[in-house]
Amino acid sequence: MHNSDVSRRAFMKLTGAALAMPSLGETAAPPSSKMIGIQIGAISFVDEGTEKVLDLLQQRASVNTLFLAVFTYGRGIAGRQIPGYPLPDHGKQEYDLHYHGGNFATPHPQFYKNTVIQPAHAPDHGNLDILAEVLPVAKKRGMKVICWMEDVFRPDLPNIDQVQERDLYGRKMETLCVNHPSYRNFFTGLVEDFARSYDIDGIMWGSERQGALSNGLGATHDTPPIDPGNVTCFCEFCRKKAAERGINPERARQGFLELEKFVRAARGGKRPSDGYFVQFSRILLRYPELAAWEMLFTDSLRETYAALYQTVKTIKPSVPVGWHIWHNNSFNPIYRAEQDWQELSRYSDFIKVVMYNNCGGERMALYLNNIGSTLYADLSKQQLTEFTYEVMGYREPGYEQIPHTGLSADYVYRETRRALEGVAGSRTQIWSGIDIDIPTEPGHSKCTPQSVKDAVTAAFRAGAPGVILSRKYSEMRLANLGGAGDAVREFKLSS
Ligand SMILES: [Zn+2]
Repeated sequence: MHNSDVSRRAFMKLTGAALAMPSLGETAAPPSSKMIGIQIGAISFVDEGTEKVLDLLQQRASVNTLFLAVFTYGRGIAGRQIPGYPLPDHGKQEYDLHYHGGNFATPHPQFYKNTVIQPAHAPDHGNLDILAEVLPVAKKRGMKVICWMEDVFRPDLPNIDQVQERDLYGRKMETLCVNHPSYRNFFTGLVEDFARSYDIDGIMWGSERQGALSNGLGATHDTPPIDPGNVTCFCEFCRKKAAERGINPERARQGFLELEKFVRAARGGKRPSDGYFVQFSRILLRYPELAAWEMLFTDSLRETYAALYQTVKTIKPSVPVGWHIWHNNSFNPIYRAEQDWQELSRYSDFIKVVMYNNCGGERMALYLNNIGSTLYADLSKQQLTEFTYEVMGYREPGYEQIPHTGLSADYVYRETRRALEGVAGSRTQIWSGIDIDIPTEPGHSKCTPQSVKDAVTAAFRAGAPGVILSRKYSEMRLANLGGAGDAVREFKLSS
């Protein structure tokens, strides 16, 4: 796996590309007072050359902070464009069908003694250590490097099945259990490794998951929504933790079996005689354990945040630590209720609030389809859309239009304002997560330089101290990235 030939080739490519294009770092635009961040994976430096990529990011978009994908097994933040979607106008023009993922830096084994999860170096680019490669070059330019990682694993990793969640019927799922000691010890080890082994400027971690009640109802934009028999987690650790909190795990299981029946019937179009909302309410009142199990997950995730925060602060108090908050925060009011900014601010130096407006229209429609087939199946899609806008505080186009229009810059403005008000009085910074070319289905809205410019401007107008251009440079078109740069330059002139 750790083939040194591949590594040498990767290194030659990096150096070669750097030589081919002289560094323009010295002549780039002066730094903005705002944090202008971009999410980027190792592949872009390998494909395009480290100096060249940084030149481009500084010149086109005034980027001053890299959110470098250092750990994931997923493709959302690492690897090239997702196969099947059009490749952007830079980088190697072919799909990386053999993407693997892992730790794109160098794992140091002494930090992973209390976990069965193995700290494997990502084999994608040979022995390349992306932090060792990018950190010195970025620092010379005054750019910051924040380690960006998420809890996405592959099912084929050694020992991983021991840490996987158990569903309602005890079956193993691909997601890992937040209450398994190996899960938390792996991530505290990982952030300790990054904080001790490298001169980094921050840590951002993200988990795009929610509890069993929201999942059971299909309250997400995921397609297809999770099967109500697959809700989690009922492993020994979760059951024990629940019992300690005064929740009867067997009662919870009974409740979720009732919820499963309700959801299956609803998706089959079989309306309860008292209606969908009433029938659900009846189950919830009989089994308040449904809500308790949802909160068990949320509290456990918060404990993970707090543990990661404490770990880094103990080692290097000056290294900022914060979180990526999932887009479902814009759609599902229950999930939004769990994102309590005041609570989170106790262990967050910053929070990246996802407010991807272009793909947000398509995703909102998917959420409405999912929840409109269970809890709110008595409403028409347009009624449910209007209800959701009122509840969430949006003014956006109708259900039929949004996949084609996306959500507006006004949505970005409102989400930024809301988050800023949420953390008011704390020292937590809000960084608006802006979408540049996250793939949408054919015929659905696509980013333009103007739409990106409008979204970034809206975040600044609302008072955001920073933006994070998302999800990854390797899926962004350069002109659209330039739209973000236009917003930064104009905002600087006007302020
Ligand atoms: Zn569990």
